[in-house]
Amino acid sequence: MEEFVPDLIPHLPKSGGDGMEVLLTSDLKRELLTSLYSAYDETATHYVRACRAGCHDCCTRNVLCTTLEADLMVHYLETANRPDLIERVMDTLHERMHRPSITLNELAAYCLRRQEPPEPETVLPTAACPLLEDGICPVYDVRPFACRCLWSEEPCAVHGEARMNPTLVSLNGVFEQMIEHMDAGGLYGNLLDLLSLPAFRESKDAYGSSHPLQPTSHLLETKPNPGFLVPPLHRPTVIAALNRLRDREICGLSFREVLRQIR
Ligand code: SF4
Ligand code: SF4
Repeated sequence: MEEFVPDLIPHLPKSGGDGMEVLLTSDLKRELLTSLYSAYDETATHYVRACRAGCHDCCTRNVLCTTLEADLMVHYLETANRPDLIERVMDTLHERMHRPSITLNELAAYCLRRQEPPEPETVLPTAACPLLEDGICPVYDVRPFACRCLWSEEPCAVHGEARMNPTLVSLNGVFEQMIEHMDAGGLYGNLLDLLSLPAFRESKDAYGSSHPLQPTSHLLETKPNPGFLVPPLHRPTVIAALNRLRDREICGLSFREVLRQIR
């Protein structure tokens, strides 16, 4: 695969010209993410999908995401007055779960340099996501992108895994890299570790307001996008989706303009 960087990721000097990341307010970050989710759903809805309410084999403890996505979920749970769900998540933290050693943008950077990335974990635990209630996701509207983009053409029970359209797989990778890029000053790791972060529990809007979050042994610093890896055959679909995203309006600014302020 060749490097492919569409116009949406700006190459202009970063805001302020000093190379420093700009941390947006929590509200603006949530608007940005919600807009990206809507843009993704509008594209993905044209693909065949067997996923149905109550089908939950894919709901495991191995979901990886960013603080940006976890923040939206925590905000939703606060509004819905469901602190019990966060407590349920915290009760599972001692159990084994998939924790990444590199982020998606770091993985893309390895590939673009034609270097071997670190070996990923091959045997993953399969226990169910502790958020599930009677087989239904109680945070479905704000579920992280890794859950949102599982768009299987046949029920996973048939083959033991999701069967995804290859073009959609490329699009998913691009959108996941975008989300990590957008979460400047944030962290990447297992959803359950992120949901139980003290930054969310102790101070309502601490995330995204002033200081970057501190990485830990299993929560990694998010990285800027080094370029996308998209096969030529999939590029028209990816470019069309990114162009639609670029022009979306967020708080009076275009998505592209807000993105330019981030890194
Ligand atoms: S990804 Fe698979 S298990 Fe999950 S909802 Fe879709 S078909 Fe069901
Ligand atoms: S967050 Fe929701 S969709 Fe994602 S794994 Fe958990 S229950 Fe399933």
